[in-house]
Amino acid sequence: MFSVPVMTYLEMAGDVPRADYKLKHQRVSNGFVLFSTEAELARLEALVEAHNSGKPLPFLDPRGENSVWEAREHLVNLKRSGGDGWYSAQCPSCAAKGKDNKQNNLQVALVGFSCVAGCTPKEVAQATQDMMEDVPEEIELLPGQTVLPISEGIEGARLLLQTEKKERYTRIDNKEGDIYLTVFRKNRETGEVKEQVHRVNKRYARIMWVWLQRFEKGHVITSKEIREYIAPFFGVSTDAWAGHAHRSEYFEGHYYPLLWLAHHRAIEYNHDGSVVRIADEVTP
Ligand SMILES: [Zn+2]
Repeated sequence: MFSVPVMTYLEMAGDVPRADYKLKHQRVSNGFVLFSTEAELARLEALVEAHNSGKPLPFLDPRGENSVWEAREHLVNLKRSGGDGWYSAQCPSCAAKGKDNKQNNLQVALVGFSCVAGCTPKEVAQATQDMMEDVPEEIELLPGQTVLPISEGIEGARLLLQTEKKERYTRIDNKEGDIYLTVFRKNRETGEVKEQVHRVNKRYARIMWVWLQRFEKGHVITSKEIREYIAPFFGVSTDAWAGHAHRSEYFEGHYYPLLWLAHHRAIEYNHDGSVVRIADEVTP
């Protein structure tokens, strides 16, 4: 818990153009402003930092919320920058203008965000929103693609992978807002079919799709590249990812989202775990 005399607080925060720094929004007791929750402490720290460095405070979005921080998992190239809760990432607003190739213009933390290239809070917040809405729930079939009604069990399922001996089909069912992925494995010699049903985590599916859209259509994205992208979300080293100890996260964050995208023909999923983005613009 920190307590700052009200006069000192006003000296530092008096000119700050953010509603959440107004005195009436602080907890005040016996002439002191109190900071104890994580958000309060982060706010105080940012204020002291801005006061000492002379740099402006980070932004909030026009609603007075930190929607960019909320959406941080969707940001491209999110990395820790310094040990004090700040991250750098590609600025969605810069990216929409074809800028920020180094993918580090955005600084974001619990207390706010800012773009070093000078995007306004409104631009950054809007571009972040647009980026997230870019992810469709459902992707239309592309012309000429076959849906294969094989047997009763895999009726309506789609052929995803085929080898000499095996075929893999997927079917998607939407029930009560959840997406279920059924995977059918068919032995081509015996005709035997095994099926498994999995729930697709929509958030991870969106994160994956947003990331894959960075790549040109037709470009092969290797399984190593996918691992390097996904593993940090789960605090796992790239080498350990997909290993036995992280099997459940691997399936939820990596494999099922890719199968879901492959089912919708947004990507092609190869035997070696690499993928190719094949949908250009997908229409929900
Ligand atoms: Zn920017």
